[in-house]
Amino acid sequence: MQKSLLTLGLLVISGSLVLAQKQDIEKKFDGKTAISEFTYLASDELMGRDPARPEMKLAYTFIASSLEKAGAKPIPGADGFYQNIPFRLSSPPKSGKLTIGITDYAQGKNMLVLDGKSLTGTFELVEVGFGMEEDFAGKDLKGKIAVANVGAPNRLTPSDLFSLGGEKSKRAKEAGAVALIERFNAPAVPWQLASNFLNRATLTLDQGSSSDLTYIWVEDLKNQLRGDVLTKANLEITGKTNRSVDGKNVVAWIEGTDPNLKNEYVLLSAHYDHVGVGTPDAQGDSIYNGARDNAVGTVAVMNAAKYFAQNPPKRSILLALWTAEEKGLLGSAYFANNPLVPLDQIVYNLNIDNAGYNDTSLITVIGLGRTSGDFLLEEAAAEFGVKAVSDPSPEQGLYDRSDNVNFARKGIPAPTFSLGFTAFDDSIQKYYHKAGDHVDNFDLDYAQIYWKAFILSAQKIANWDQRPAWKAGDKYEEVSKQLYGK
Ligand SMILES: [Zn+2]
Repeated sequence: MQKSLLTLGLLVISGSLVLAQKQDIEKKFDGKTAISEFTYLASDELMGRDPARPEMKLAYTFIASSLEKAGAKPIPGADGFYQNIPFRLSSPPKSGKLTIGITDYAQGKNMLVLDGKSLTGTFELVEVGFGMEEDFAGKDLKGKIAVANVGAPNRLTPSDLFSLGGEKSKRAKEAGAVALIERFNAPAVPWQLASNFLNRATLTLDQGSSSDLTYIWVEDLKNQLRGDVLTKANLEITGKTNRSVDGKNVVAWIEGTDPNLKNEYVLLSAHYDHVGVGTPDAQGDSIYNGARDNAVGTVAVMNAAKYFAQNPPKRSILLALWTAEEKGLLGSAYFANNPLVPLDQIVYNLNIDNAGYNDTSLITVIGLGRTSGDFLLEEAAAEFGVKAVSDPSPEQGLYDRSDNVNFARKGIPAPTFSLGFTAFDDSIQKYYHKAGDHVDNFDLDYAQIYWKAFILSAQKIANWDQRPAWKAGDKYEEVSKQLYGK
C-alpha cells in the first residue's frame, strides 16, 4: 500500500514536471516578436533570400543579431556568428559551340558549359576513361582537352556527378589541360532535365584555381565522343562569366548544464535561404518570399535560441541557419565537411524545413520512427495538442532532399520537423516554391503551436538520459557505428 502510494506520488511529480516544461515554454514564448521576425524574413525587402543576391546580407545580419541578443555564444573557430563559405556563381556563356569531326554541339541543346573560362581554338583530345588518378597517369595533356565519362561506375547520382566532376577538373588542370569534356550518359538523369536545370547561373562551392578550367558536358548516350577515336575538337565559347559569392552559415551555441552531457551537442538547424526572384505569377508577383520554405523554420531556431539561452538543458545546443539549401544543400554540406565541433559529439540533429501544410492538427516529422529518441517528439507535439506523424509521401524522397541528410550520411540521427501535411498534394504545391508563399496566407495560431512544439521537442532530446540511436537495420546505422565508435 505504502509502496504503491509512493509510486503514485513519484508519477504525479514526474508528470507535473513534464507539464511544467510545457507551461514554462508557454509562459516565456514571445509570439508577437516571433511573428514580426517571421514577417520580416519573408518580406519583399529581402528579395527571396537568394544567396547570390546582395539582400542576403539583410537576412544573415538579422539572424546573427537575434542569436547574439538572445545570449547564444559564438563557436570558437567561427567568424563571430558566421561560418564563411567561398561560393562562385557560374553563368552560362553568351555562346558555346563545339565541333568534333562532323558533329556539332551547341550550348543549351546538346552541350552545357558548366564552369571555367571562355575558350576558343582547335585542340587535341585525350581520352581519360572515368578520369580517375590512374586514367591520367603517363598521359600528355598539356594544352589539350581531356575527354571522360561522367561519374564513375556505380556512382551516377546527381551529387556524384558534380563531386566527381570537380575532382576530374582538378586532375585535368594539374596535368596542364585546357578543358574537360564529359560524355553525359547517366541513365538516372534525363539529359533534358539536366539541361533545363543547368543552363542558367549556378552557385557552387569554389574549388580554387581548378574552377578556371573549361568544363563541359555533351549529350552522348552512345559513348560516341571518344578521345581515343576522334583526335581534334574546335571550341568557340564566348562570354562566360564567373564571380565569387560570400556564403554565410549563421552559427552559435549554448552551453549545457550537466557536467558530462554538456560535451554532447543537439544541433538545431534550418536553412534560411530561398529561391530569390523569378518568373512572375498571375498576380505579377516575382518575389519568392519563402514564408513556409523556410522563414518559419528559421524563426523556430531563433525562438529556440532565445528560450535555451535563458533555460539551458543538460546537453549543449548548437544553432545553425544554413545558406544555399536550395542550390543543392551547399551550406549544410560545408558544415558537415568542415565541422566547427567534432561530429562525433553531435548526438542528434533536429532539422526544420517546410514546403507547406494542409492539416493544422499535425506536425509531420520526416524520418519519424527511424531513431530511438523520436517518441519524445511525439510526446512534445501531443502536449501542444497536435499529433506528430511520419512522412506521408516517401515517394518524394524528402528525407534525402533537405539539410538533415548531410548529417544522417555521417551517422547522426537527423529527422526534419515539418508543418503538418497528409499528402504532397495541390494544397502544398499551391505555395511550394511559388511567389505566393507569404505570411499573410499563413495560419499564425498554428505557427505558434508549431514553434513551441519545436522547442519542447528539442528540450526533451537535450535532457534525455539516453543518446538517440538509429533503429537496427536503418541504412544509416552502420556509418553511425563508425562515427560514434560503438
Ligand atoms: Zn526548404
